Amino acid sequence: MFRLSRRALELGPSQRPDAGGYASFVGRVRGQNEGRAVVGLVYEAYDELAVAEGGRIVEEAQNRFEVLSVRCDHRIGDLAIGDAAIVVEVAAAHRREAFRACEFVVDEVKKRVPIWKRERYADGRSAWINAGTAHNADALTEASFYERQRRLPEVGIEGQRLLGDARILVVGAGGLGCPAIEFLARAGVGTLGVADGDDLDATNLHRQSLFRARDIGRPKVDLVAEAVAEANPYVRVEPHRLSVSADNADSLIERYDLVLDGTDNFGAKYVLNDRCVALGKTLIQAGVYRYEGWAMRVEPGHAGGCLRCLWPEPPTDVRSCAEVGVLGVVPGVFGVLQATEAIKAVLDVGDSLADRFWLLDLLSMEARSVRRTARPGCPVCARAVPSSSRRVSEDDSVEVTPFDPRLAQGEWILLDLRAVEPGGGRPVSRWPWAPAVPELKDLRTEVCYLAVCAHGVTSLDWARQARALCHPNVWSLRNGVTGLERIGP
Ligand SMILES: [Zn+2]
Repeated sequence: MFRLSRRALELGPSQRPDAGGYASFVGRVRGQNEGRAVVGLVYEAYDELAVAEGGRIVEEAQNRFEVLSVRCDHRIGDLAIGDAAIVVEVAAAHRREAFRACEFVVDEVKKRVPIWKRERYADGRSAWINAGTAHNADALTEASFYERQRRLPEVGIEGQRLLGDARILVVGAGGLGCPAIEFLARAGVGTLGVADGDDLDATNLHRQSLFRARDIGRPKVDLVAEAVAEANPYVRVEPHRLSVSADNADSLIERYDLVLDGTDNFGAKYVLNDRCVALGKTLIQAGVYRYEGWAMRVEPGHAGGCLRCLWPEPPTDVRSCAEVGVLGVVPGVFGVLQATEAIKAVLDVGDSLADRFWLLDLLSMEARSVRRTARPGCPVCARAVPSSSRRVSEDDSVEVTPFDPRLAQGEWILLDLRAVEPGGGRPVSRWPWAPAVPELKDLRTEVCYLAVCAHGVTSLDWARQARALCHPNVWSLRNGVTGLERIGP
């Protein structure tokens, strides 16, 4: 229950014989703030919004903690020094849950409920004070939060909007996931799904940078939600308290635009690889071992292929960090790198790791970049759904290379445009089995057409004209037959 009250608040705990304990908090008006003598203050609220948001906080507390009842009353109007401004009271079977729920409600109300405070000072002046967490949180606006980042030409207002609209799933809130989540949240990624089934353990603390020693034993996804809310109040965390497996991966991945793999075992990495490629979601992967690590991007339908193109089956002889140890900064470096790659994917800027396997040894400081290409016959890439995560430029979406895994799917009709090339040119080998090139208006929408010409210029132009007439499944072979002859035997 959350209430606003214009009268003095009731302080005593309500009587519940079934409760093992009560935890209560009373916040009172102080006579001092930032060194100035305060003689009184006024709280003002958007009543309807405040009651709705306060109600949500109480409900969240009831869902997160094992409590019997939660009450939160907030005073509004004129208050004198010593008056109770907020009273939170939690009844629970056990004291620890009662304390935690009580602290949660106090913190969330300060952060989220639209209540403003006007302080009156001994010198006769007065000032609005934001009731948020920071003592001068009135300096905080969404625009000011992202100001430095938005100055970058690659970001700007439009890029910041793209980040705000983005929905990124981080699987694993561990050594990779923690720094990735923190920087994605600070960059303004509007919705962060976080999947992790574990409770915080003492052995996590040397590398998992979102957590504090006092939180050992609590579910990591709850701790992440709290840490992110404190770091950036303008983004939202969707906690999923589960370990990702082949059974639950699809229903989770489907809800997001992009997936960041923060898992520490190859079983999970292959599940994420297979399901992301099948569902057309960009996947940013990384792994660490002692002092070194690797990172790559899997872009479904991209010529760089997937994890299974590199290694068809999960390696079995790899020992885990739990066995061999890991320096805490190593996953930190790679988690930040994954966040960078995810932000670049959302903004569609820079060179990507979609066709590279990038390695860094932090002892020798040697970095290596190995080219990746889709492996013919990779069963995962053969069923790839082109990534929906990435904004593709027009050329990317109209042209395909001979190795594009999209060519392995569905029904394709090959159209040889060389016969209709303007000016003719020198006739090269023609394919008598290719059907006659139809008029644009006669194209069928249910099949895919691959237009081919000598150099890929006429076919690209033709495919673009077809696209303009609402035939989305028309493609042009990049560099044409001449390009094929350069590759072929
Ligand atoms: Zn593959």
